[in-house]
Amino acid sequence: MPRRPAGGPDRPEQLGLEGMPRRLYACTPSRLNTWLDCPRRYRMAYLDRPAPPRGPRWAHNSFGVSVHNALAGWWKLPAADRTPAAAGTLLARGWIPDGFRDAAQSARHRDRAREMVERYTARLDPADEPLGVERTVATRTDRIAVSGRIDRLDARGGALAVVDYKTGRRPLTADDARTSLALALYAVAAGRMLRRPCRTVELHHLPSGDVLTWEHTDESLDRHLRRAESIAAEAESADEAYRARVPRPRASADDRAREPDHAPHDAVFPPRPGPMCAWCDFARLCPEGRAAAPPRDPWSALPDEP
Ligand code: SF4
Repeated sequence: MPRRPAGGPDRPEQLGLEGMPRRLYACTPSRLNTWLDCPRRYRMAYLDRPAPPRGPRWAHNSFGVSVHNALAGWWKLPAADRTPAAAGTLLARGWIPDGFRDAAQSARHRDRAREMVERYTARLDPADEPLGVERTVATRTDRIAVSGRIDRLDARGGALAVVDYKTGRRPLTADDARTSLALALYAVAAGRMLRRPCRTVELHHLPSGDVLTWEHTDESLDRHLRRAESIAAEAESADEAYRARVPRPRASADDRAREPDHAPHDAVFPPRPGPMCAWCDFARLCPEGRAAAPPRDPWSALPDEP
């Protein structure tokens, strides 16, 4: 059967063998990436109920969320009020102090974040109204219903561009934009919802001021979509195996205090230990992950912090 192009019409359902509509696998790019990264982490994040407790908040996540919130708030101001100083004020007012070693460290990184959003917004045209800020987009194929939230959706001439803010210390390249499953799926979804071409995806790296752009083609977007379907097919079959084994959530919330019994699930949801386990929210509940990477302090991903 010929493949449908990425911008083509959707079919919400596919008839199964018995003529019954087949349920679509509902997912986000984050869910698909979690399955790829580590099936055990996927199980604990999306299937185990009551949900296992996550570790403490990470300071770098607090930093990133504070910056994202300030930029979203900035675009909600009247255009005349969108000054760099206003972005700094929004940042300071909405600062999330969780995960930092102490108040002094939190204040130091709050000031760094404030300077970052002021520098970034100084390069923007406040009158250049985005089509969407933190906008939820969704689309379907024959197999999946995928949704997610875009940091910013810009109109560029007659086309659209997906903008994703990044605040990590790792320098980025255009290849990061090219290979991002999330950005490609957002582009497909935004293009379909707004009925305008959407092939441009951009990573705006605030610490460096770099903008990494990738221009997709219909073919490259379609490849990402097919890849998402393939990942989803694996995750869906694992979900079904889980439900067959655990038809109902566990009754007692006391189980949350104990390390889960992973063994019955490991054939379908194996751990994938590696250096990234140091940053896993469930490392405390995962012996293989703890052995692979020593636990890190919640602030250790911040620049210039030991
Ligand atoms: S600690 Fe590592 S192996 Fe364990 S669940 Fe997390 S990512 Fe997977």
